[in-house]
Amino acid sequence: MASTRNNANNAARTVNTRKTANKNVKKTNRKITNRKTTNRKTTNRKTTNRRAGGKTPFSPVDLKKLFPPWGSEDALNQTANKEATDIIQAVYHDINAYCNLERLAKEQAYGCQEMFSNMFVFTEGFVEREISYYMSCMESFKAEHGEFQPVTPNSRFLEFVTGLGWKMFAICSHAEAFRRGIKESSDRTWGFLLQKIQENFLSIELYAHSRALKWRNILCAYQNSPIPGLPDMKPEIETYMKWKVDHPHHTVITLDGKLKEPTYNGKLQQHINESIYEPKKWGGKKQDPTIRHKPNGSPTNVGSDCALCGSPVSCDCRLTSRAGELVELREYPDTGTGVRALTRFQRGDTLDIFMGELLPTSVEEVYPLQQNDDKLGKERYLCTICPHQFGNWTRYISHSCRPSTRFTIRTIGNRVVCTVDALRDILPFEEITVSYGGKYWRSKDYDCLCGHCDGSGTD
Ligand SMILES: [Zn+2]
Ligand SMILES: [Zn+2]
Repeated sequence: MASTRNNANNAARTVNTRKTANKNVKKTNRKITNRKTTNRKTTNRKTTNRRAGGKTPFSPVDLKKLFPPWGSEDALNQTANKEATDIIQAVYHDINAYCNLERLAKEQAYGCQEMFSNMFVFTEGFVEREISYYMSCMESFKAEHGEFQPVTPNSRFLEFVTGLGWKMFAICSHAEAFRRGIKESSDRTWGFLLQKIQENFLSIELYAHSRALKWRNILCAYQNSPIPGLPDMKPEIETYMKWKVDHPHHTVITLDGKLKEPTYNGKLQQHINESIYEPKKWGGKKQDPTIRHKPNGSPTNVGSDCALCGSPVSCDCRLTSRAGELVELREYPDTGTGVRALTRFQRGDTLDIFMGELLPTSVEEVYPLQQNDDKLGKERYLCTICPHQFGNWTRYISHSCRPSTRFTIRTIGNRVVCTVDALRDILPFEEITVSYGGKYWRSKDYDCLCGHCDGSGTD
């Protein structure tokens, strides 16, 4: 087991090297929300003469690496790595589900209180069992070798708490995936898991924090009786993360491992659950042009059949995707704030609706994501969605010339919306990207830095 502890330490070093390497970050390839015409670096001026054959070719596929021989070290590592990824993505999922359930229990939603108290008991019981098992091992060692023998039980619990701390142990204990993983996974998988938790330490900490996970509750019973051979949990319990508990998409993890708010013109970019229509900005026109019915309920001629139920007129359908709960905002070298997946998304998944303020015309500095009517054979301009001040996580998706998602105009429920759809499978911890379109890049005087093109913004 000692070797796995080394893995975690190695991981710590890798993380540190990566951080220092990224110190000099050019903020260039800006997001939809951060377009400004000023402050552009000369180095990013659009190149008129593209370098010959400048496009990065797809790297040749090493089949041996992709499919290592059965039973080889590489194959075993590949399997263990995949298993560890499955566990860690389930940890995010379970923490989110736990916090959602706690919220519903507080709102006294039907059946949720009982379910939540069961989940709490599972977590509490798990921690109790791990601690008491460790203690009983210590006791029997003492009986066998005497008081001062420097022997420690061969325990993953000990390894985890010593390497990653009580707080991380308490957070992860809320996840069924972790509770099973610590018991059932192979040594190899466990080693990869420790490494991944170490690499994503801040990410997991922030994820739990922004969802107000009360991890202290399951430790407080033990805080006054130190456990021999384990670090004192008190300092960790008494340290509070110096960051507000806020909407998860009001925080960006920076390249140097800090937290910041996403801002536009110095103001926080606020999260909204529904696009904003303000009649004032439309010369007093009361009717939101994307809505399929008039205030009196009679149908407008906007949109086509509902993509979910097929209704030709306004219906109650809503997109139920929870993708936004399983992504995080994080800075990337070169491209600035982007979106990182914390789970696996499948090709064809509709991740979310691109939201913002609906405006009649494209305003200066606004990325002109025009929303046209999706009626067959009809290209009718409806509005521009401006996500500068208000929007959801989809506004932070960076452009790539080989994107993993695309914008699609659809009629859903009572309105015409622009959705973000997965073009291919997206892996946990992969950056989610979208294409802003050739028109966007032709209108800009800076180069695309996605790394897949010659800078022109087209693959
Ligand atoms: Zn419908
Ligand atoms: Zn590009």
